[in-house]
Amino acid sequence: MVSVKSIKLNSVNNAKRIVLKVGSALIVDPTTGSIKESWVKSLVKDILFLLNKNKEILIVSSGAIALGKSELGLQNKSLKLSEKQAAAATGQISLAKAWKSIFEEIDIKCGQILVGHSDLETRRNAMNTRATLNTLLKLNVIPIINENDTVATLEIRYGDNDQLAARIAQLVEADVLILLSDIDGLYSHDPKNSPKAKFIEEITHISSDIESMAKNTKSNIASGGMITKIKAAKIATAAGCHLIIAHGKNKNSLLELINGGKHSIFKANLSPLNAKKKWILSKRDKLKFVKIDNGAENALNLGKSLLAAGIKSNSNSFHRGEIVDILSNNDTLLGCGIIAYDSDEIEMIKGKKSTEIKKALGYKGRDEAIHRNDMVIN
Ligand code: GLU
Repeated sequence: MVSVKSIKLNSVNNAKRIVLKVGSALIVDPTTGSIKESWVKSLVKDILFLLNKNKEILIVSSGAIALGKSELGLQNKSLKLSEKQAAAATGQISLAKAWKSIFEEIDIKCGQILVGHSDLETRRNAMNTRATLNTLLKLNVIPIINENDTVATLEIRYGDNDQLAARIAQLVEADVLILLSDIDGLYSHDPKNSPKAKFIEEITHISSDIESMAKNTKSNIASGGMITKIKAAKIATAAGCHLIIAHGKNKNSLLELINGGKHSIFKANLSPLNAKKKWILSKRDKLKFVKIDNGAENALNLGKSLLAAGIKSNSNSFHRGEIVDILSNNDTLLGCGIIAYDSDEIEMIKGKKSTEIKKALGYKGRDEAIHRNDMVIN
């Protein structure tokens, strides 16, 4: 195991759940168009160091298009969307294969998750994606995530994995998102062209000045520049997740970062949990509610989730993933939360024990109608 004398970077050190985004320019050799295997091996070793510190890691890996381009002989060509999608279809297999075989060498399992814009922006699908990611983590499997490039159309794709990674970080309530990139952080001016470029180490507020610093410094191989990183930082920090940009070109650059290596950090000023609570409260709609019995009210006061058994009645206008008010037997507003069922399903399972849900619905739904972590109590 790697030993580290001093851990200076508290945002990573204190984090429990970390999303790591690896750019195409790092994972794919620009001259050969193939995987940089020894670099990936060194990264996996750094990841093992974090896993041994009890951290949960999710990887957002780019590289499918870059790999597929070379496999299909399409390098040095500007590609139409359908050609990029064909390249992604081919390259994604090699990408997943590389991660799997390298993680296998250290006895760690990984699972592939390909998501489209609609999977994360449609609440119902996003809830399923979140449940799958959480289950993989619980089973000690590293999720390897990429955009489902083969099916997305121009208007409905992220197109860059910086923003995709930020949405994933928000979805799983990660503490830190690390963008391992071909640039070491944010500069006041483009460091390649301007001698007065100043490195910005810490950003506590994404002001218009900060946004204007983000020149689009596109590399030959990656699709995200600093502009997409700033957009990602806005999403992540609003969700209570710090975002770090660091150079990943050298081997063991993740470990170097953990040791306090050069990076820019966009600080979130609230925790993921508080950000989620704020979001839940902002989405309240008092026409959507469930009314619960005294037993369920007592359970909520003890910090428990709301089970279907405790629901007496409900409004008839909500869908799974929406925010509903929780009312007591005598119509007092107790709180609100993300409901795990549609209102017509609640009709069928209210008052029923968790063991009776399958029979009532015809499938095994979740035990909790509103999970404790998805709830704000007054
Ligand atoms: N999803 C694209 C790929 O795997 C990468 C997008 C990006 O580079 O940010 O090739």
